[in-house]
Amino acid sequence: MTTATTSTGPAIDQSLQHVYAEVLRRNPGEHEFHQAVEEVLASLGPVVRRHPHYLAERVIERLCEPERQIIFRVPWTDDAGQVQINRGFRVEYSSVLGPYKGGLRFHPSVLLGTVKFLGFEQIFKNALTGLPIGGGKGGSDFDPKGRSDAEVMRFCQSFMTELYRHLGEYTDVPAGDIGVGGREIGYLFGQYKRITNRYEAGVLTGKGLAWGGSRARKEATGYGTVYFANEMARHAGLSLAGHDVVVSGSGNVAIYAIEKVTELGGRVVACSDSSGYVVDERGIDLDLLKDIKEVRRERIGQYAKERTSARFVDRGCIWDVPCEIALPCATQNELDEEAATTLVKNGLDIVAEGANMPCTPGAVRVFQEAGVLFGPGKAVNAGGVATSALEMQQNASRDTWTFEYTDNRLAAIMHNIHERVVSTAEDYGRPGDYVFGANASGFTAVADAMLAMGVI
Ligand code: GLU
Repeated sequence: MTTATTSTGPAIDQSLQHVYAEVLRRNPGEHEFHQAVEEVLASLGPVVRRHPHYLAERVIERLCEPERQIIFRVPWTDDAGQVQINRGFRVEYSSVLGPYKGGLRFHPSVLLGTVKFLGFEQIFKNALTGLPIGGGKGGSDFDPKGRSDAEVMRFCQSFMTELYRHLGEYTDVPAGDIGVGGREIGYLFGQYKRITNRYEAGVLTGKGLAWGGSRARKEATGYGTVYFANEMARHAGLSLAGHDVVVSGSGNVAIYAIEKVTELGGRVVACSDSSGYVVDERGIDLDLLKDIKEVRRERIGQYAKERTSARFVDRGCIWDVPCEIALPCATQNELDEEAATTLVKNGLDIVAEGANMPCTPGAVRVFQEAGVLFGPGKAVNAGGVATSALEMQQNASRDTWTFEYTDNRLAAIMHNIHERVVSTAEDYGRPGDYVFGANASGFTAVADAMLAMGVI
């Protein structure tokens, strides 16, 4: 069969090109959504050759169309008494494996296409966990940066006043993502409880520890990312210990990735936020970073002001910092072809995506051509949503688990995802191709469930 290649992206098999053309036609201007779909379709050629009924039953076309998309107005009043208007979204993408599950992102860049790309990725990520969760995503173009707690609360209350009617522990279960952490989940849960008059703990995950939260949810995405990177290293006869690691970002995912890398003997030499990055040859001081980011909510430059071994760089690119292991944990398309080329030149061995789609298609190609081990986000960062599913289990059984028990389960889940991805890639004659293994394995699980349920 012949294939066609886009300028920088992967090749989509001839048999699936009409599907992609239709996605482009129906979703104009939604570049991130196109990119996420293209990346999955580019893996599916060998899968539909082996299982032609997926094509005949038009499973892939169905999966490119979300089950439901909700867009709503979020009006609220700021501290100056001024009315503000934001846009809220929830894309309920696929519920064949369980209730819609996925985070909410509050960031000024959020558009419908952003939420659709994240929702699409989430379906396959959630399938890889092996837990009963469907895929969805939501958010708003609200920017929490610089807003007071009271403003964030009023925004969250307004957001939930519309969204609550679409949620439920058996229907749709949001959590956090960029701009949505424990504070926001608290306000959202409080409003849900108030409107519905129900203490339905399993309707949101990432809750506080005193009111139904999982003990390891905050740490889970970052820890899981490093557990996965560690599995990749081990599988290739490498190790994280004694190596330099660059972690982009300094939010929830990055902080706990840094914590786990350090625990496993790696040295994190740089991290960042949207204002720039810091380099610290002595290794990032986690207590200081947590204080600046989690408590004081300050910019990353502050770290260099308080730590003599560190310097702040407000231009250029964090990927210029030499390392053997790169963990992009900030946001989509943060690591491009040029950055990838620099990393490869500097002796990179492993990339594991803690964020969702942080590497551009061109960057992924550079890594794969250079023989760098590349772990895609939908496998690598699945520990966050997996631990959300564990939180739902605790809520359903009105139980609380210890940190240790939850963390052990997380590590086992990441081990299983790694096995599943590696063995799928090998089964199709593509050993070491984590992108293919993750897409083929996640897709097959969803497609088989869809087919079993008829035309839905
Ligand atoms: N937002 C996270 C993700 O990208 C977590 C979602 C969840 O816990 O539901 O997977």
